[in-house]
Amino acid sequence: MENLVKETEVAIIGAGYGGLTAAALLARKGIRAEVFECLSVPGGRARSTERDGFTLDHGVHGYRCADDSAGARVLRELGETIKWVPEHGNRAMLVTGGKRFVYPQKVADIFRLPLLSPGDALRFTLILLKILTVPVSMIADTSFAQFAGRASKRPQVRTMLQALGLAAMAPDIDQASAGEVVHLLRRGIRARQGIGHPLGGEKQVIDKLIRHIIDPVRLNLKNGVRKIHISDKRVEAVETENGIWKPKAVLFAMPVQRLFRFVDPKHFRPEFHNYALNLEPTCGISVDLALAEPVSDEGGSILDLEQFLMGRFPSVSDPSLCPPGRQLATWLWVVNSLKMRDKNFIRGVREQMRNKIEQLAPGTMGKVMWERWLYFSILDGVYLRVGQAWQNRPPLRSQDVENLFFAGDTARAPGVGGEIAFLSALNAVPLIEKFRAGDK
Ligand SMILES: Cc1cc2nc3c(=O)[nH]c(=O)nc-3n(C[C@H](O)[C@H](O)[C@H](O)COP(=O)(O)OP(=O)(O)OC[C@H]3O[C@@H](n4cnc5c(N)ncnc54)[C@H](O)[C@@H]3O)c2cc1C
Repeated sequence: MENLVKETEVAIIGAGYGGLTAAALLARKGIRAEVFECLSVPGGRARSTERDGFTLDHGVHGYRCADDSAGARVLRELGETIKWVPEHGNRAMLVTGGKRFVYPQKVADIFRLPLLSPGDALRFTLILLKILTVPVSMIADTSFAQFAGRASKRPQVRTMLQALGLAAMAPDIDQASAGEVVHLLRRGIRARQGIGHPLGGEKQVIDKLIRHIIDPVRLNLKNGVRKIHISDKRVEAVETENGIWKPKAVLFAMPVQRLFRFVDPKHFRPEFHNYALNLEPTCGISVDLALAEPVSDEGGSILDLEQFLMGRFPSVSDPSLCPPGRQLATWLWVVNSLKMRDKNFIRGVREQMRNKIEQLAPGTMGKVMWERWLYFSILDGVYLRVGQAWQNRPPLRSQDVENLFFAGDTARAPGVGGEIAFLSALNAVPLIEKFRAGDK
């Protein structure tokens, strides 16, 4: 333990997408910064692992709108590009009532869906028209079901709306913020690109970000933050496992729910403290299955709308993810945050997931060599429901502590999950620069 107090321009807390993005952008501008990360590997909730020749992302990961995503934009700023796995053959499948159908890409496809009667297809199409035309600012505080109106009560229309809600990882349409869902759907339509998966998994993106974290920025792994000392509305010091730092500015690049492990709430306005304490994340359970031989040739996602279970065989379109002759499957069950605390429910989920996976992709469970289970009390930092929509999230510069900034997937930026993390960091860096320049 070094007890010397050290100085730096910026202390970045957390080396996930948010912290790494900010670090790489600050390095490019020649601004001195220290990144503190408690784990021995960077990448946070997007880190990857190798096991027996399999490359495992930290659960199913993808970039909405591929080259038009915030992650791709960050890498472009750094002079890099993301290499994607080919999209060819990666059609997403929806499963409901035991039936499978291709996720509709065009309005004409909606009318061909066996799920919808002609009347319901028309109702659903009218909702889609409204999605394309309504001013988003008018529906920020409206649930997606309210936005869809009476048609949302019809079971089949409701199922299709849930499929759309999944774009925001908020399948409960009575809770999902219509503003967030509509914003994401419009972006998808405009970009004309679906979900992009980096070749070789998340490792490609994390490695590229790290390549740009060079002098005068340093990445300190296994050096977690213990305390953030605030006085007189300023962060005075950041205490880490290896010492005490006096930064001019601090970027908190972790879920804001965790801020009050490090600081005394008395330094913040009560409404911000309450928001952070009560912020509901998206939660879920994930399993990676290492398969002894291929069982599927489907490269796209499979979405079960009854359980909100989704999965892929990522090695179908990216064989680099597993040894020759093997196959990798990754499945994720989106769980309500209250149920995540129910131990009995969680105990039953593993068995249910195994059964459901076998039903959706027959032959899988018989070929499993090993399984890796992950339990996420925070999958996406924020569940995109009414009251937690973009406008409600904390601004990128604290309103209470003048040299404290926020990035990561709970900060104020549009999108969902990783998209918010990348974009908030991209937007926080110029604010930090401005602050440094004394332009407060
Ligand atoms: C299974 C799963 C699937 C997902 N799928 C997608 C997807 O398809 N698309 C998408 O866009 N997003 C997806 N996400 C969400 C995405 O992974 C996150 O939004 C993103 O990784 C968040 O990045 P972040 O930088 O905000 O936070 P994090 O990645 O959580 O980074 C915070 C970092 O802080 C570190 N830390 C914790 N405590 C301390 C401490 N005391 N001191 C220092 N450091 C500390 C953590 O170890 C971590 O590295 C998924 C998430 C999961 C879990």
